[in-house]
Amino acid sequence: MQFSDFSLDKRLLASLEHMGLSTPTPIQEQAIPVAMSGRDLMASSKTGSGKTLAFLLPAMQRVISTKALSKRDPRVLILLPTRELAHQVYSQLRLLIANTQYKAVSILGGENFNDQAKALAKDPHFIVGTPGRVTDHLFQKQLYLNGLELLVLDEADRMLDLGFAPQLKAIHEAADHRRRQTLMFSATLDHEEVNEIAAQLLKQPEHVAIGASH
Ligand code: ADP
Ligand code: MG
Repeated sequence: MQFSDFSLDKRLLASLEHMGLSTPTPIQEQAIPVAMSGRDLMASSKTGSGKTLAFLLPAMQRVISTKALSKRDPRVLILLPTRELAHQVYSQLRLLIANTQYKAVSILGGENFNDQAKALAKDPHFIVGTPGRVTDHLFQKQLYLNGLELLVLDEADRMLDLGFAPQLKAIHEAADHRRRQTLMFSATLDHEEVNEIAAQLLKQPEHVAIGASH
């Protein structure tokens, strides 16, 4: 199987070619069609298996190929447990977004709040952030999520281990409407809190587990 076998926009295929990537990894092969179908997804596979593109490609494709629900609200929100992980995902997103008209911002803890508020006022299509700072902007009304189309929880097990369950629920509630899709990635599905939050946030999710030991 090749990336070109997915119905991806030709600009995305060009970016992948530019990155030297042609063959999807197993998690990408299984997760991308589910995510592109619009269904919710709960996926697990080990570190280094290519989970980032498994959600970035469907996220980009959705934004490119569908009409926005709102002109101003972000369309895609990607949450990660740490600044470093969020920065890595943001860098990959910047590569994919480079030859499109779409805008992305990163909203990380430890950076200037007012600069972030200004960046949010420019109505970015994509936000990559950490849950604490994203909820700060939500509560201070610098950010509205009514038009959010896709919520991605990457490294969900680590976010929950770090105590971010209340923030994830607040973000879910701010973006709780029938047309929102949610993709959840975790190193393991064998984690009580991950299953609890999945039951609250995901709608009849498809499960994909690569290399699970059980
Ligand atoms: P994970 O999130 O599962 O830990 P990443 O998405 O960070 O994994 O990817 C790990 C590495 O694999 C990155 O350097 C990425 O560029 C590379 N990679 C991702 N997808 C592919 C692919 N289809 N073919 C080759 N390398 C890939
Ligand atoms: Mg990852």
